[in-house]
Amino acid sequence: MSDIIKILPDNVANQIAAGEVIQRPASAVKELLENAIDAGANDIQLIIKDAGKTLIQIVDNGSGMSETDARLCFERHATSKINAASDLFNIHTYGFRGEALASIAAVAQLEMKTKKKTDEIATLIIIEGSEVKEHTSCSAADGTSISIKNLFFNVPARRAFLKSDATETSYIIEEFNRVALVYNDISFSFYNNGKLVTKLEKSTLRQRINAVFGSNYGEKLINLGENTNVANISGFIGKPEFARKTRGEQYFFVNKRFIKHPYLNHAVDKAYAELIPDQTYPSYFIYLTIDPHQLDVNIHPTKTEVKFQDEKTLYGILKATIRKSFGAFNIIPSIDFEAERALDFSGLERKGEIKMPTIKLDPDYNPFISRSQGANSDGFQKPVDKNLKNWETLYEFGKELSTNKPEQEINKPQNEINIEHEQAACFNYGNKYIITPVKSGLMFIDIANARERILYERFLQNVENHTPYCQRVLFPYTLTLNASDAELLGDIMPEMRQLGFDIEAFGKNAFVINGLPSDAVNHDINDMIERLLESYKRNQLEAHYEKKVNLIRSLSKNLAGKYTIQLTNEAMQMLAAELFACNIPNTSPSGKRVLFILNNEELEKKFK
Ligand code: ADP
Ligand code: MG
Repeated sequence: MSDIIKILPDNVANQIAAGEVIQRPASAVKELLENAIDAGANDIQLIIKDAGKTLIQIVDNGSGMSETDARLCFERHATSKINAASDLFNIHTYGFRGEALASIAAVAQLEMKTKKKTDEIATLIIIEGSEVKEHTSCSAADGTSISIKNLFFNVPARRAFLKSDATETSYIIEEFNRVALVYNDISFSFYNNGKLVTKLEKSTLRQRINAVFGSNYGEKLINLGENTNVANISGFIGKPEFARKTRGEQYFFVNKRFIKHPYLNHAVDKAYAELIPDQTYPSYFIYLTIDPHQLDVNIHPTKTEVKFQDEKTLYGILKATIRKSFGAFNIIPSIDFEAERALDFSGLERKGEIKMPTIKLDPDYNPFISRSQGANSDGFQKPVDKNLKNWETLYEFGKELSTNKPEQEINKPQNEINIEHEQAACFNYGNKYIITPVKSGLMFIDIANARERILYERFLQNVENHTPYCQRVLFPYTLTLNASDAELLGDIMPEMRQLGFDIEAFGKNAFVINGLPSDAVNHDINDMIERLLESYKRNQLEAHYEKKVNLIRSLSKNLAGKYTIQLTNEAMQMLAAELFACNIPNTSPSGKRVLFILNNEELEKKFK
């Protein structure tokens, strides 16, 4: 039998390889931008026509190439960036495979002019479908200019697969941004169809983000920074109130390279949990610097995927770092009131378990009342049994010490609360808001949102501690539901019991209720359960909470909304105290704002 195996000719092999590296104009833009940066350029122009389908040109002022290199760079596996396999573990450039230029040259008509500073004369190369058409000297500026004309001219199937110009242009802009958002010390210009559309001067990173996304963008961001022995984390994260309905600007960079990393993204989501409404997404620009030995960037040909050796540790550090920034920027009470000190991960074993920073607090501290007051008649039956947070540090209440400061103090913060009176006056506006003076101005609390937050954390804690507060009802209540609701209720009955419902199945589609969580006693049982099941079902569709969490969210939301009792001054103070005992007093579990302070300056401005 005759032999049948043939070695593919280079141009065919290159075309096949090109398919992996160059899927669309944006991939060529990415490779060329990265080469310019690897060449040390500090000024880069990107010029495209017809979404890059007709022309992609990159002009850089980097190192340039010698005449020989100019020819060699189009060969496959031609790279100046690594010499030996061991170099693979110590890569500080974008490229290292030596595939990009060979791939592009295989599927386009390419023209390159390049000149080293030390050379008198530049080199011109014209190459079409891997075939060199011209190779001469010419005159040109220092650096390299590469024009890619008619991408995929010889691969019609690929060309046909490209999307509309608008879409392909947006892919190009995205690649451009991913580079521009890292190299703020490089100036970039971007020309689209003959028009200069973006000009980015050298600037700080924050200015660069502003320049890319609009001049007020920076105001929506807070700084992020943490230096640990595992990774260095810096950058910016969006303030929770600016979270958006679409996954907009979410950028992770590792060692200056844009990456996608669902697991780390999850760490960010977790850090934002309960600070933003469901189905919204925060912006972030997170820059990780990590020892290249801890990374494997080689797992995906287009290199937006990275594998970390110790992802778990990184996950924990990232989440803690974000939470710390929220604390430092008063978005949630700081987790460490000794503040500025960096989180200490020095004792962390590489494979060790992550411990969240511990919270040191005064368990008896109550900003409104000198002592915790115990049971109250309005449904807030339970004294706050958890640590009251030093929430007032959030609001810069001033440096004076309060008159009603607790005697027993653990790690007291420097700036104590200063309420004007022994017991602060609370004003109830329309049974919707509580207004109360604080040192820096007037604080407005949304009662329903505050109640939702308090109930949520209380239920959560009761369930965790296995201490449901069940109050027996005077007469057992029988509830009849339609078949599907009955099925659902049957399914979540164990969790209902954990929350304090004394409930049992009672024949077909019927249930008997002997007791309720004490926070639910004054509610119409039928109405409450029906609403509870409704929001439970909605949550099931929209978000994937575990059963217990879904139930707690649904219950606290429904109980909070149905609250119409006239609040006495004492009850309002209790509500405020309970609110500030919560982990996250500023937002409700469904992400709504709970309070804000109209500060003295704003108030004074109103009268000018
Ligand atoms: P890689 O970047 O993986 O090395 P490329 O095919 O992208 O592979 O480039 C091949 C080589 O050509 C590079 O290693 C570099 O030496 C040279 N080169 C490419 N682009 C430029 C440029 N803009 N300026 C200077 N040298 C370049
Ligand atoms: Mg390259």
